[in-house]
Amino acid sequence: MSPTYDVIVIGLGGMGSAAAHHLSARGARVLGLEKFGPVHDRGSSHGGSRITRQSYFEDPAYVPLLLRAYELYEDLERATGREIATLCGGVMIGRPGTRAVSGSLRSAREWDLPHEMLDAAEVRRRFPTLTPAADEVGLYEAKAGLLRPENTVAAHLQLATGQGADLHFDEPMTGWEPYRDGVRVHTAKGTYTAGRLVICPGAWAPRLLADIGVDCVIERQVMYWFQPDGGIEPFRPERHPVYIWEDAAGVQVYGFPALDGPEGGAKVAFFRKGATPTSPETIDRTVHDDEVRAMAEQVSGLLPDLPGHFLKAATCMYTTTPDEHFVIAPHPAHPDSVTVACGFSGHGFKFVPVVGEILADLALTGATAHPIGLFDPARFAAGTV
Ligand SMILES: Cc1cc2nc3c(=O)[nH]c(=O)nc-3n(C[C@H](O)[C@H](O)[C@H](O)COP(=O)(O)OP(=O)(O)OC[C@H]3O[C@@H](n4cnc5c(N)ncnc54)[C@H](O)[C@@H]3O)c2cc1C
Repeated sequence: MSPTYDVIVIGLGGMGSAAAHHLSARGARVLGLEKFGPVHDRGSSHGGSRITRQSYFEDPAYVPLLLRAYELYEDLERATGREIATLCGGVMIGRPGTRAVSGSLRSAREWDLPHEMLDAAEVRRRFPTLTPAADEVGLYEAKAGLLRPENTVAAHLQLATGQGADLHFDEPMTGWEPYRDGVRVHTAKGTYTAGRLVICPGAWAPRLLADIGVDCVIERQVMYWFQPDGGIEPFRPERHPVYIWEDAAGVQVYGFPALDGPEGGAKVAFFRKGATPTSPETIDRTVHDDEVRAMAEQVSGLLPDLPGHFLKAATCMYTTTPDEHFVIAPHPAHPDSVTVACGFSGHGFKFVPVVGEILADLALTGATAHPIGLFDPARFAAGTV
């Protein structure tokens, strides 16, 4: 008996929804299983905005994937008519030696990406909301900006459904095993067979992918929305870029222009500092007053008008690998039938559509032309990290 599906995708958050789209677009019979409802706020793909940028300080190896992700995001907007990307420009600010500045410059130079180096006075002149110190500089990238995560996930789910994918919500996978040439997947509602399995578990990776040899830490991260002093007009995307600001101690803060919405505030967050290890079951989703105070104090060093009036905060989870690089690969123990994508370490959203494309390549052909060597989980087994 042949399996019911060509591919089963576990997790329909950022990565899994993109995989379901790319797989079904290529004619595969797809079943998607998601623990919660469509476009939920219990994982890592919510909160209204995500930064995208190309001069990637984390590693130049990400740049070709970003260039492809930009194309695919455009396709996604065109195919669904949803508002997803606002390329309002972005500035990476810090002293010249900070990772945010020197790493971005390295990628920009290696890949010949359009960028401008601005001194502090020029940053202040161009973006009056930002007040860097005299010894800080900014790498400005006109193509940086923001993505709307909820609209992205909804768009991928919409396309996948239109292409015939079966998407089951509120139906978590409870287990799976190899079966004939493929896999068998269990849920409380039934058992399904498929030739291939793609697992995109987000913060559930330590549980669902405990056997791939990657020590992912789940971090509680908080997003804060403020109503600036003096109103939001200077903070609109036409005048205010996305920014990442690294202080002398290496603490990174990032933020967004004010977007339309019920509160009309501007979002800001710490990139990594203040991360509390947690799990999806035990995360404290309450944001405490001392956290709001610490955020307001830190960000007022660069944007003195931003923390005028605190509006709201929300928690989110990073799934962080020891080297903060992703894991995208055939499952080490089941390379012919299972593909895994996890450990996006707080910087995965801008790659969502290209990860979907890579997962479709790996699941359907066993290989991809995209450069994913950096994401091989064998790097941990080899003790190189
Ligand atoms: C506060 C915050 C800010 C961020 N900012 C940026 C940014 O500016 N730029 C950027 O590029 N990235 C950013 N990121 C990172 C980015 O959002 C994540 O890397 C990305 O959303 C991860 O997608 P995912 O598909 O791995 O996880 P998710 O979207 O969480 O999807 C995983 C899915 O698996 C489901 N699932 C789990 N277990 C099961 C099961 N047993 N059966 C079925 N389904 C299951 C979950 O319910 C969930 O829907 C940020 C993240 C956070 C938290």
